Amino acid sequence: MMIDIRFPDGSVRSFEEEVTGYQIAESISPRLAADVLAVSVKADDDTAVGKGNVIGLDTPIVKNSSIRLLKWDDPEGKHVFWHSSAHLMAQALEALYPGVKFGIGPALENGFYYDVDLGDKVLSDNDLPAIEKKMLEFAHSREAFQCTHVAKADALKYFNEKGDEYKVELIDELEDGKITFYQNGSFTDLCRGPHLRDTSMIKAVKLTAIAGAYWRGDEKRQQLTRIYGITFPKKSLLDEYLVMLEEAKKRDHRKLGKEMELFTFSSRVGLGLPLWLPRGSVMRLQLENFLRRKLDEYGYLPVVTPHIGSKQLYVTSGHYAKYGKDSFQPIHTPQEGEEYMLKPMNCPHHCEIYRSAPRSYRDLPLRFAEFGTVYRYEQSGELHGLTRVRCFTQDDAHLFVRPDQLKEEFEKVIDLILYVFGSFKFQNFTAQVSLRDPEHKEKYIGSDENWDRAEQGIIEAAAEKGLQTVVEYGEAAFYGPKLDFMVKDALGRKWQLGTVQVDYNLPERFQLEYTDKDGSKKRPVMIHRAPFGSIERFTAVLLEHTAGHLPLWLAPDQVKVLPVSEKYADYAKKVCDLMKKSDIRSSVDDRNETLGKRIREISLLRVPLLVIVGEKEMAEGTVSVRYEGVDQGSMKVEDFIARFTASVASNSASF
Ligand SMILES: [Zn+2]
Ligand SMILES: [Zn+2]
Repeated sequence: MMIDIRFPDGSVRSFEEEVTGYQIAESISPRLAADVLAVSVKADDDTAVGKGNVIGLDTPIVKNSSIRLLKWDDPEGKHVFWHSSAHLMAQALEALYPGVKFGIGPALENGFYYDVDLGDKVLSDNDLPAIEKKMLEFAHSREAFQCTHVAKADALKYFNEKGDEYKVELIDELEDGKITFYQNGSFTDLCRGPHLRDTSMIKAVKLTAIAGAYWRGDEKRQQLTRIYGITFPKKSLLDEYLVMLEEAKKRDHRKLGKEMELFTFSSRVGLGLPLWLPRGSVMRLQLENFLRRKLDEYGYLPVVTPHIGSKQLYVTSGHYAKYGKDSFQPIHTPQEGEEYMLKPMNCPHHCEIYRSAPRSYRDLPLRFAEFGTVYRYEQSGELHGLTRVRCFTQDDAHLFVRPDQLKEEFEKVIDLILYVFGSFKFQNFTAQVSLRDPEHKEKYIGSDENWDRAEQGIIEAAAEKGLQTVVEYGEAAFYGPKLDFMVKDALGRKWQLGTVQVDYNLPERFQLEYTDKDGSKKRPVMIHRAPFGSIERFTAVLLEHTAGHLPLWLAPDQVKVLPVSEKYADYAKKVCDLMKKSDIRSSVDDRNETLGKRIREISLLRVPLLVIVGEKEMAEGTVSVRYEGVDQGSMKVEDFIARFTASVASNSASF
């Protein structure tokens, strides 16, 4: 029987009998066969929506199928590469530390880890080079990843005899007949695969971190050692990665936040609760004002709601049933039976504002916007600077719209998000459209007609706005489809920022209505949207993206005026006052320190403009200007102010 293999460009190759991904690649070119890591296959008779299954290069394809040969550039290719590398690291660990036991070893977005039980051995950074060396040794000996199907009893016997209770526990939960072992060299692991053909493609290794991790994430169980690593098919790629890592360290927003005196944390206040310092608060206000101006333009109405709400509110919204146990627990009052909760989301409050008056079809769309502070309990191990916190402020809004207005409103929201990204020079972003799993419509609430309309609306709106989109089936929330924006920062790292979600659930739960043209009662549709995501997260991403060199309009201190000596302090103050009159955030640094020392200290704050004044400047009514460390020469104070105003107005990167 002939097998037709279809490629992404639509071309087809026929093979006489079953064929492997490797053979297909070889039939095209030896070069391709050397580069390909795995293959994604979707049989023609497979009607499920989705991209297909990733399989190893030596697994036969037995039916007519569409395939993609996965290389290093494909995230799925990297995934197989890094997962295989976890096996390679395990092999090295077993060779160096006999008796080591293994938990799980998955691939990550960047690299992989393995959770291991090393008994009494406490691993330190000093041990890592020896493990890396061993890995490269095994990689070099080109050991195949060999798959064997194992009966459950035999699988249990193998790991019982080996004394690895973690694998035994995992096997216990598996179905007999579906268990496979993979072997590379001397090391055998329980695994579903797929893997690389052999270890020789792994050419460069870096083990990046050691951490503690509880077995199965359960604090009451064994603490294991988690070893993180990353590998590459070329040495030069590792070198590039290490440079990027160094740069990322310099841009770490936690480090910048401290140097720039923007925010801090205090264990007395509590974990994950950021304290915004005066400079950070000035910046935050600028961010809010920046959005507020746009909200006006787009017809949003401001609302303000409390930081707590009756527990019953969240029972009604469904948040309590879904997240109640993992949230901050209810607050009790002296009144028997009265319970409040810290607000985990603003939406229920906004629904009640909608309900506060009768609404007609002519009132819609209604757009309520709030910089709403919410509280979510995150595990202490999950907390990270401003990106994972327990208290944060969403640039939130809820749009209540008629079904026929959905697409237009969606387009306006996309416009707003694009405006925001453009203003901060995030040029590289993708939008993920998350739709229903069409095979399991029963998992979602809301009528077919409404879903079709909403999904179609999002897809069309995204296309009309020229967004680069990825469509994911089955990734929608149970209450509606959504659009999430991922931005790439200056180092090429991906961050999730803005999100737009359609919601049929809350209007139902809160019995929201409007009176239609014909006098009948109808349900509005809700759109949740947040262009920044949250002020905290956005600040973190922006700091890492810009390395702390914020746009001039956003910098907390825009200008520092520096008299070269005490003699010119009065002139410096006069210049500073003139700037303040023109709404420039400026201050004088006339501390009794050398000019060089003051400049070095100010550079940590990343003040964009330094204005230096001395004898000559005072005599001529001028200032000497430095912008982002580059000399701009001297100019009249009025000219400086004019240039400043123009630069802010055009949001330009130069002065
Ligand atoms: Zn595996
Ligand atoms: Zn919401």
